[in-house]
Formats: sequence, C-alpha cells, structure tokens
Amino acid sequence: MNLASAWRRMAFVILIASATIVRAQQPLSVRQIAPGNFAHRGHDDVATPANGGDIANVGFVVGTRCVAVIDTGGTLAEGRALRAAIRAVTPLPVCYVINTHMHPDHIFGNAAFRDDHPQFVGSAKLAQAEAARADNYLRALNRELGAAAAGSEIVAPTRTIDGIGTLDLGGRKLTLRTWKTAHTNNDLTVYDEKSGTLWTGDLLFAGCMPVVDGSVVGWLDDIARIRQMNPRHVVPGHGPLDPPWPQTLDAEQRYLADLARDVRAAIKKGETIQRAVDSIGLDERRKWLLYDVYHRRNVTAAYAELEWEQ
Ligand SMILES: [Zn+2]
Repeated sequence: MNLASAWRRMAFVILIASATIVRAQQPLSVRQIAPGNFAHRGHDDVATPANGGDIANVGFVVGTRCVAVIDTGGTLAEGRALRAAIRAVTPLPVCYVINTHMHPDHIFGNAAFRDDHPQFVGSAKLAQAEAARADNYLRALNRELGAAAAGSEIVAPTRTIDGIGTLDLGGRKLTLRTWKTAHTNNDLTVYDEKSGTLWTGDLLFAGCMPVVDGSVVGWLDDIARIRQMNPRHVVPGHGPLDPPWPQTLDAEQRYLADLARDVRAAIKKGETIQRAVDSIGLDERRKWLLYDVYHRRNVTAAYAELEWEQ
C-alpha cells in the first residue's frame, strides 16, 4: 500500500468513527429531586431550533420492577435523549409512558419508547384532544424546528385514566389523577406516594406565565384541591424543579384569580374583548417569563369563557 492510499484509508476510518460518535445518543440532563424521581429542566422559552423544542420539564420514576416516564419532550430526538438518561440510571424496562396533557412539548418524544412496548397512559380525554389538533401540531412543529422535528409523531394512549388510577412500579406506587378542565381538558397529575413527589404537568407553572387552554374557573377549582395534596416535592410543567411550596401555587392562583376578576369586570362594563386585552394585567409583565407570548391570549380565552356566565 502506498502512502496516499494509506492516508485515504485512515481518513475513511476516522470518518466512520466520527459518524458513530455523532449517532451515539447524548442523555438528557436529569436531577434526582427525590429518591427514585429524576427530572429534566426544560428551557423557559417557546420552541426554537436552538433549544430543539426542549421547553417542558420531563422525567421518570424508578421502581424495583420497572420505570415510568412522565412526559417525553417536544421531539423524537428529545425522547431518545430522555431514554438515554434512563439507561444511564437503570437497566429496568420502561413499562409506562405517561402524558400529563396533549401539548406538543410534552408528547412528541413518545415514539422514542415504542420499542420498549410500554403502556402509554393519559387522561380519558387525551386521545380525542390530540387527534383534533394533530395536523396543526405537526405543521407547527416542523415550521418551528425544521430538521430537529424529524420523526416526531403523536402516539396515542393505550391506557386511560378517568378520575384516579394507580400504577405499580414495584415497591413504588404512582397515583394518577385527572382534573376538571383547567390548563387543558385533559390534565393529569402523577403522585409518588413513597417520596411525596407531585408531578403536576402544566397545572403548575413556576415563574413562567400560566397558559389557559381550558378554563380559568376550572383551574382555580383544581388549585384549591392541589393545595390540599401538600406534596414534599414538586415537578412543575415549566420553571424551576422543586420550587417553594405553596408559594409557587399561590403566585399562579393569584394571577388566575386576578385575571378572572378583571375580565368579569370588563364584561360587566360592556367593554370589548379588544379593550380588555389592551388593559388587563399589564403589571403582570414584570412577574412572569413569556408574558408577551401568552398573557394577551389568556385574557382572550378568559373573556370567551366568562362572557357566558353573565
Ligand atoms: Zn401545556
């Protein structure tokens, strides 16, 4: 072999080796916030190519028999990275993939777990809500993320919860609970009895503006009940992991209660929806991340909901 062909051969070997490295899955960063409960902190942002749609808090709970995943992230790629994070912690099988609600940042990683043959678990109202928005969600995901969205798809629940349900991971029971329409009409929480850890999905936003895609009245009712659960640890859908309790819930409750109060007053005065949007909650801007993206939409949603009360 002459020198030139030896170099070519070496370059080829390096190329193959680096391709293998690129293919190796980088695990998603997770933190054990309570024994057996591992959570990943998403970016406080809307989905962008830079964050790859990794904007929700997701994670998993480990029992002696198997693992339950709680939300899978905004893309197939994020779901795969979450799966790699699980494999770095335990060789136990993934027996449940739980979705806390229909929103894209919580469900589009589901397909990464298909080969594990888990039960996909969600509210009894989840499948229909996903189906109604599937086309829009996929179109938006591809527009927002481009190549990073590749392979992402909706995987509907195979086991549904209406009210309260229990999953046994071996030495660890998870209590799943559905709620009155609030953030969405298919919100579901997961409570790990053993560690007192409550995974709220988007029924709790910490520092990031709560988004009303269901009912502000229902959400306030749910908050009163969630408060009574008095968890030792909390994983909110967005914002810092294990934030101060109940202060984080207090802040969300105050925002939603003020929103309902001010929108009711505007309707009573005969103000238009546009006038309400332009005048309500302007001082919330300094209190919440993503105010500019979601607050006006919240006023619009609350107005549409509350005008039927009169
Ligand atoms: Zn959500």
